[in-house]
Amino acid sequence: MNHVNLSTLISEAQIQKRVQELGEQIKERFSGKEDIVAVGVLKGSIMFYADLLRAIDMDIQCEFYGCSSYGNSTKSSGEVKLTLDLANSVKDKHVLLIEDIVDSGLTMNYLKTVIGARNPATITTASLLLKPDSLKEECEVDFVGFEIGDDFVVGYGLDFQGYYRNLPYVATVNMN
Ligand code: 5GP
Repeated sequence: MNHVNLSTLISEAQIQKRVQELGEQIKERFSGKEDIVAVGVLKGSIMFYADLLRAIDMDIQCEFYGCSSYGNSTKSSGEVKLTLDLANSVKDKHVLLIEDIVDSGLTMNYLKTVIGARNPATITTASLLLKPDSLKEECEVDFVGFEIGDDFVVGYGLDFQGYYRNLPYVATVNMN
């Protein structure tokens, strides 16, 4: 493994506080609705997904969708590759699509299109992080944890060459 220097960008306490707030807001948004299914995008959303779902005090089903666009690089390849499909139908269900980070916006828009094609009742999107300066296409995200600059980040689900996903905080990577 290549060790790199990390600088904390968002602390564990900041993340946990914000995730609780998002959980409460999402619960309000889904108030009165049944058949809610949370779709986590593997692998980056795992930590956010697990904490966010525990902060939403409602009956929710769990599904996962796998895709990758970075490979081992720190720049998006621009191509979204499906690595795992949903195990169950989301037809007529209220989908909460949970992403780790929206960078170019390509993956989130791709996911909205492919999941929208499965005829859910509604799609609501949540992303822990958003890089507004990196967006290459218009991308609406309903619930955003934190807006950050365009530095490459790791931790809390996000990796560099497969590592650092298990950090409880988000850090920028110093490549030098
Ligand atoms: P987009 O399609 O919006 O350019 O990128 C979305 C995907 O790229 C994310 O789900 C994530 O896997 C990866 N990604 C984007 N920015 C970063 C980053 O700063 N760090 C890491 N580790 N992955 C990123």
